[in-house]
Amino acid sequence: MKRVRRRSLWQEAQRFLAGGVNSPVRAFQAVGEEPLFVSRARGAYLFDERGRRYIDYIQGWGPAILGHAHPAVMAAIRQQLQQGLAFGLPTAVETALAREIAAALPSIEQLRFTSSGTEACMSAIRLARGVTGRTKIVKFEGGYHGHGDGFLVKAGSGMATFGLASSAGVPKAVADETIVLPYNNVPVVHEALERLGSSVACVIVEPVAANMGVVAPEPGFLSMLRQVTKQQQILLIFDEVITGFRLAYGGAQTVFKVRPDLTILGKIIGGGLPCGAFGGPRALMSRLAPTGDVYQAGTLSGHPLAMAAGLATLRWLKAHPPYALLAARTRRLVDGLRRIAADSKMPVQVQASGSLWTAFFARRPVTGWATARQASTERYAQWFRCLRREGVLLPPSQFEACFVGVAHTDGLVDATMHAARAAFRAMA
Ligand SMILES: *Cc1c(COP(=O)(O)O)cnc(C)c1O
Repeated sequence: MKRVRRRSLWQEAQRFLAGGVNSPVRAFQAVGEEPLFVSRARGAYLFDERGRRYIDYIQGWGPAILGHAHPAVMAAIRQQLQQGLAFGLPTAVETALAREIAAALPSIEQLRFTSSGTEACMSAIRLARGVTGRTKIVKFEGGYHGHGDGFLVKAGSGMATFGLASSAGVPKAVADETIVLPYNNVPVVHEALERLGSSVACVIVEPVAANMGVVAPEPGFLSMLRQVTKQQQILLIFDEVITGFRLAYGGAQTVFKVRPDLTILGKIIGGGLPCGAFGGPRALMSRLAPTGDVYQAGTLSGHPLAMAAGLATLRWLKAHPPYALLAARTRRLVDGLRRIAADSKMPVQVQASGSLWTAFFARRPVTGWATARQASTERYAQWFRCLRREGVLLPPSQFEACFVGVAHTDGLVDATMHAARAAFRAMA
């Protein structure tokens, strides 16, 4: 026992967990520091095992839009917990959450829940291939759709963070079925989709890219995708795992008024518990087993605790729509950071969409992976470390989004700007 105690938590984790973590970005490798170990989190604050408090912009990578441990969500989980855990049989709460989601997202009549966003993306692709009888999929550089084999080609998030263009262990035959196009490049993408046409089952896109840092779609990009996919009978899939219930209650598809064929959800819809979902019109979704011939299943899919947490989150969001306030707070933070960066003569592009933002250490605006990759990851790492010392926790990578939630008060936004000023000063 004594020996265990003398080792740090990080050393101990590295003995028993691969790379010390259960998801790569958590290792803080890209920011040159040891990861922090979380003891607890509440609202906008996160506390590490050393008792340090941080204003948290990771927010569980998106689910905690209401802030950590929101009372309404905690109460719903506690109540559901009384009934037991996993039954592997239908529960009413699954339908209740499905009804809520279908009412919110114009493209969804029916959905199926999974245990993660990864699983939902993999399943949606299988459905698209089953429905169209085609095999190729199109994704975008810097786009992240979980770690399914076919998605790990020029992917964002951890792959971008660690500079991996592809992953070992993905058969060439699988990677060859994935076509990667440049996000936001209207003429190139339009031409490619017209040319590839009938070989492509689906185009999958983050309507607002948030896994190479935050990159909003150029005007006309999403509507071009809709028009050309319709013309070529390719299914358009919006991966709204981050943007769903975050940019607006109805997701990016209501903000940009583009209706995809299939939508993928995760993060917020599980209220902080493991959850994903994919959905679309009944005609497509009924192709899934048991009514159809596309197989998809999951022992813990639609887990009652996740359903209860997600439902409580969505009900709160519907009853107290925070979106205008979140966007205004984020705008204030972003404007402030731009001013502070300019005062410090630091070449920074602070980009935002709704309550998502990223500070790119770049000279020019970031519009896709070609420009994102030019950002200085060293500068970002330095900024991350300075801010951490000031009690502000950013994602430990240049290529991830920062999340503002309802718990980030104006006072905390001010405190963040104060910390940013000190950080830029320390970096100069
Ligand atoms: C997080 C994320 C996923 C994967 O979800 P997991 O629950 O981590 O498997 C897929 N797509 C997008 C856009 C994401 O941000």
